[in-house]
Amino acid sequence: PLSVPPVQLLTVCSVFQFKPILLGTADPRSEMASYRRVTNSQKCVRAGGKHNDLEDVGRDLTHHTFFEMLGNWSFGDYFKEEACRMAWSLLTEHYGIPADRLYVSYFAGDAASGLPADEETRQIWLDIGVPPRRLLPFGLKENFWEMGDSGPCGPCTEIHYDHIGGRDAATLVVFQSVHVTREVDQSLLLLPQFSVDTGMGLERLVNILQGKRSNYDTDLFTPLLHAIHQISRVRPYSGRTGAADVGKVDMAYRVVADHIRTLSVCIADGIHPGMSGAELVLRRILRRAVRFCVEVLQTPQGALASLVPTEVVIGTLMFFPQVTDIINENEAHFLSSLQQGSRLILRTLNSVDYKHGVFPASVAWSLHRDLGFPLDLVDLMLEERGVQVDRQELDRLITETPVMLDVLSLAELQRLGVPHTDDGLKYQYRLEQGRYVFPACHATV
Ligand code: ATP
Repeated sequence: PLSVPPVQLLTVCSVFQFKPILLGTADPRSEMASYRRVTNSQKCVRAGGKHNDLEDVGRDLTHHTFFEMLGNWSFGDYFKEEACRMAWSLLTEHYGIPADRLYVSYFAGDAASGLPADEETRQIWLDIGVPPRRLLPFGLKENFWEMGDSGPCGPCTEIHYDHIGGRDAATLVVFQSVHVTREVDQSLLLLPQFSVDTGMGLERLVNILQGKRSNYDTDLFTPLLHAIHQISRVRPYSGRTGAADVGKVDMAYRVVADHIRTLSVCIADGIHPGMSGAELVLRRILRRAVRFCVEVLQTPQGALASLVPTEVVIGTLMFFPQVTDIINENEAHFLSSLQQGSRLILRTLNSVDYKHGVFPASVAWSLHRDLGFPLDLVDLMLEERGVQVDRQELDRLITETPVMLDVLSLAELQRLGVPHTDDGLKYQYRLEQGRYVFPACHATV
């Protein structure tokens, strides 16, 4: 009975389907209204809009475009204290994770918006036995959870796992205590019942429980990395990261392993690569994957889709035969553009137009507009060659081009000075005579 409201681009966590319960607006006759304690495993894609982890994927060892969020919820049932105690006991007693590897963060308050520090949560953690030096206060951005400009919100507290004993910590569990809602005029109202939303990334948990250095060294990914090696003409995966490895073999393995999972679950759930909204996000992911396959891993055409039937993609995720057909068709579509584009980049770098590490915007623009390269892929390909695009000129070209449909990232919107909200859907824009038109919210700026 649960479905994602149509305003949501892609599911980034499980809160959306439960919004009516949080707000107390669920139909009292519905099954949903009777929920008190819920657990779920939610497919999440964070590759566009407000939650966009695409740029981190492949560069680090903990972010994926698709991951499984293990959620548990209290709707007017247990609150902060029980949530913290149950989670601590699950991690340290049942899973046996050493407590001295765990750090906890809580909301430090925000004077500007008049929000007090979450002292209650701090005290709960101290009572549980977390030493003060591993209990860290953070501000609005890190530890105050909001769904959007308005709606349910509240302070959150997070448990981080330190991989190397030197604060190399990745967030493992997040608890949101949802007891207030922000009105459109920004005032805060107490909700009819207090709730808790707890989310933990499966891939990061498996990483810790299997004692690995990286999510990619767990059995969620190793069979896939092995399968990629079989179809490639390069050395096996060796786990290197860092600036010097951007765009190189190990990053390519991670990107392709990540992206094929995302492509498979999205296509199986009915989203096909396309030209707007979630479909455009998928098109970007597919083109990024094809490019890493062909140019870095030196795989033959069709290799990407051949990964779908691997044990991991079929075994742990959903699979439908048409997934491979859709990936193959889209790959074939992009391959000749990819060859032309790569040649164009090389030719430009060897030509007189190219000076001092600044790549001409007109060429970058033509890669995007004429050959269908996602702009983030153009940036990445140039970064790999140690050059940057003439950003100012490229922004001018983007602004002046008459019609275009794309999804801008928050960073791009900020750079262009476009007023924006935190709702991912509104980033989708069309340019008409130099003005941005956001169809979803009927706004023009
Ligand atoms: P981070 O700061 O590490 O990106 P986050 O604060 O964005 O994480 P939440 O939005 O609170 O994380 O999501 C809850 C949990 O989901 C995280 O604690 C983490 O275990 C997992 N998670 C979040 N983003 C990703 C991702 N891109 N890939 C894999 N797991 C993720």
